[in-house]
Amino acid sequence: MKMVLLGPPGAGKGTQAKSISNRYSIPHISTGDIFRGNISQNTPLGIEAKMYMDKGQLVPDKVTINMVKDRLQQEDCKKGYLLDGFPRTVSQAESLHKFLHLREESLDTALLIEVPRDFIRERMTGRRVCPSCGASYHMKFNPALDGKCELCGSDVVQRKDDAEETVKERLDVYERQTQPLIDFYKNKDLLSVVDGTKAINEVFEGICSILGSHKN
Ligand code: ADP
Ligand code: AMP
Repeated sequence: MKMVLLGPPGAGKGTQAKSISNRYSIPHISTGDIFRGNISQNTPLGIEAKMYMDKGQLVPDKVTINMVKDRLQQEDCKKGYLLDGFPRTVSQAESLHKFLHLREESLDTALLIEVPRDFIRERMTGRRVCPSCGASYHMKFNPALDGKCELCGSDVVQRKDDAEETVKERLDVYERQTQPLIDFYKNKDLLSVVDGTKAINEVFEGICSILGSHKN
């Protein structure tokens, strides 16, 4: 199965992606996690990406698209994958479409986790993440016991770009640059929508019933 997860920052894409990846045995490819990995290793890509991420802006398309194309050609992607945080612009979506078309492949679905803007601020400012494995927690909705990641034991931290002042910019960027992808995938008859305002396990149940027909 090849799928993309759509939704505003803080919708729960990363949270659900971990469960989908386990259930369907496909790699979870988060462009945000790849950028953060590069930042922590201080690579040239990380140094460039950080300038944009700290301001809540998007990393330029060319850099991001090349990075994703490289990742999708790795061996573990042969059986499918779950893209989280990519595409984020129409140009990225078109590049992905062309990339797949040239390989005579196609997406199975673009799944939108729908969450209204009023929910997002609390989700993002309360988010805590594991810097080692990328797992997402929430101070109120999904706390990390003793501040430790339950998967790998690292201390969870707040993301710099989850500070109140950056959250507004990220939501504006989402509405301007990423929201148009909803129509892009609707027009290709690939869009499915799950209500992301429910509890984490209920959202996952909703996703599984949508994906039920794609068990491969
Ligand atoms: P995204 O990857 O879309 O930016 P995350 O998966 O990191 O979002 O989720 C954002 C925050 O909201 C995290 O702190 C996460 O624990 C929390 N969260 C995710 N899904 C839900 C939910 N259904 N209800 C309440 N909180 C949630
Ligand atoms: P995320 O972890 O998905 O919330 O992404 C964190 C940040 O990484 C975003 O605010 C962007 O600065 C950058 N980023 C992640 N994915 C992309 C993308 N597909 N295109 C451009 N920038 C991205």
